Amino acid sequence: MVDWSGGNDTGARPRKDAIWAGVSRSGAADAPVYLRNRIDAETWIAALIDSEAQAGRRTLIGFDFPFGYPAGFAEAVTGDSDPFALWDWFEARIQDSPQANNRFDLAGELNLALGTGNGPFWANGLPNRDIPGLPRTKAGYENPFSDRRHAETLAKGAFTCWQMAGAGAVGSQVFMGLPVLSRLRKRFAGQVAVWPFEQLDAPVAFVEIWPSLTAGPAPDGMVKDAWQVQEVARQFAALAPADLARMLDVHAPEEGAIFGLGFEDRLKADPPLRNDCFALPPGVHWTPVDEALSLLRERLSVVTKAEDTPLDAALGRIVAQDVTARRANPPLPNTAVDGYGFAGGRGAGPHVLPVVSGRAAAGDAPGDVPEGHAIRVLTGAALPQGVDTVVLQEDVQIDGGNLRFTGPIKQGANTRKAGEDVVAGQTVLTAGRQVTAADLALLAATGLSSLSLRQRLRVGVISTGDEIVQPGETAADGQIFDANRPMLLGLIAQFGHTPVDLGHVGDDRAALRARLDGAAGQVDAILTSGGASAGDEDHVSALLKEAGALALWRIAVKPGRPLALGMWQGMPVFGLPGNPVAAMVCTLIFARPALAVLAGQDWTAPQGFDVPAAFEKRKKPGRREYLRARMRNGAAEVFASEGSGRISGLSWAEGLVELPDEGLDVRPGDPVRFIPYGSFGL
Ligand code: AMP
Ligand code: MG
Repeated sequence: MVDWSGGNDTGARPRKDAIWAGVSRSGAADAPVYLRNRIDAETWIAALIDSEAQAGRRTLIGFDFPFGYPAGFAEAVTGDSDPFALWDWFEARIQDSPQANNRFDLAGELNLALGTGNGPFWANGLPNRDIPGLPRTKAGYENPFSDRRHAETLAKGAFTCWQMAGAGAVGSQVFMGLPVLSRLRKRFAGQVAVWPFEQLDAPVAFVEIWPSLTAGPAPDGMVKDAWQVQEVARQFAALAPADLARMLDVHAPEEGAIFGLGFEDRLKADPPLRNDCFALPPGVHWTPVDEALSLLRERLSVVTKAEDTPLDAALGRIVAQDVTARRANPPLPNTAVDGYGFAGGRGAGPHVLPVVSGRAAAGDAPGDVPEGHAIRVLTGAALPQGVDTVVLQEDVQIDGGNLRFTGPIKQGANTRKAGEDVVAGQTVLTAGRQVTAADLALLAATGLSSLSLRQRLRVGVISTGDEIVQPGETAADGQIFDANRPMLLGLIAQFGHTPVDLGHVGDDRAALRARLDGAAGQVDAILTSGGASAGDEDHVSALLKEAGALALWRIAVKPGRPLALGMWQGMPVFGLPGNPVAAMVCTLIFARPALAVLAGQDWTAPQGFDVPAAFEKRKKPGRREYLRARMRNGAAEVFASEGSGRISGLSWAEGLVELPDEGLDVRPGDPVRFIPYGSFGL
């Protein structure tokens, strides 16, 4: 991706407003390249095309200036609407060197030749020299063409190609860029195809980009242009082929277009997770639950790809792009009841209307009903032309082909208006939503048979510990059955992700390392249980530490032990405590929202309800507490024992009572917050 410049040489030291190039290859980004002038840039790009071709790779090169002008300009200048005629025209006339070029003079000449002298080009950027035909300001501006290309009308904040100078102006970049592209295109004839003017069947594609569309602000201390080309290159390189194809499918034979326009969310979607994404602020000993949650929310981002998915595979998946209704609901005005339809309301008193033959039933195409007549209508039928009001069949008499009823009845009574529920084009689902059964009804009704959804997040589960044996095996003295793994796999499935059983490993660091390595590429995230503290046999934390990516979160929560969070080969690892109660509570409270973010889902706090307590409890300040609870007779009762190994309590419970961080004396009848398991998606 290349960030262009229309100005002069910017010197030996990398700086802003120069030419910058960012290269991403096979998912890895090179450091952004600083190019001090266009001569260097042209040489560098030619060398890149050569070396990539030699390596047998295809290249998509983006340039951040328009490849064409608003309709009519090319023809007015060259006598031909072909944008390449204009490229040749500029190539033949632009004189360029690191220290000077003739772009302002040429803009002035064009204005005069087009007969205005006051446009379409404006803004002479030379402080010490007036240019005939090129005004300094927009006063008295005349433009025989559109101010913007179609693409620019859709790109909020984009500059027009007519403005030759001033912060953000692109006019000069076009003048100084097209000749370079024109030369490269000829030099690599047959190897380069230009989007969207040509079929992209050559090894190299040139596309027009506008980094501001998707790049976002630069990190502290990084030159904005350098950041933008690196980030946009990463975004494009991360696209699935199908998405890339969709984005390239643009018809703009004369003006050109901006790649990615309309797909901003898709392009911005997948920033990779950083290795230090779980790092805690220094000096923190006990992290309050809310702080831990906001850290997860800030640091994590979606890792799953979007794909077009048919409706019947959508349940529980995450919407990747806002969905708009194709069709209104209802599509046509229709009747809400069985009865008789006619035009207009009627006042108080008796009314008689002749009934036409036939009837309108659901599914019938709407016919015509003459004025002053009524027609038999059945629930759901589209209203015939000339009908806007329906009287209930229970309220009428039919005799001798006449309808008799007593008013008043309001115009529109017992009918549904077209689009009264949803109008076509309205957003019905927003990105980040988990599709429900009701959503399927809405999608179907509004004419959608497929939508862009995230692929399911694949979450691996590993149990650790020498004492653990598998259900069905014989447990020797001192051994226990693996309770966590079936539980965690079940929770993951209920959250809507794909559970991946990665088995059990003993307290053996090498074996655990091999298991984690083997999971790379197979899963998007891993939950482990056991071995997450800082002891000798706590190999999960030891390995993450070895990878330089361990954050041992001591969260002020009960039940809970330290959570070992870290990254292993790009996969976030959640090292949960071994105790099943703590493992489940930590999964519900911390892993669930974190996995949701990775899956592309909106951040949602589980919904809780203030209900009277059916128990008594004195709680010390400092830690948030979750009690296994259930609702009986309108009050929350809690499991008799708080012991962290009491698996029966997890099964007994139907939710959790959440007690605040502060100290508290709960008496029966006091309000407490009950979070049903359903609020966690269970
Ligand atoms: P750890 O975190 O490895 O020290 O384990 C804490 C406690 O949880 C120990 O009593 C373990 O035996 C128990 N535990 C660890 N993993 C499991 C598991 N998969 N199923 C049931 N209990 C477990
Ligand atoms: Mg253990």
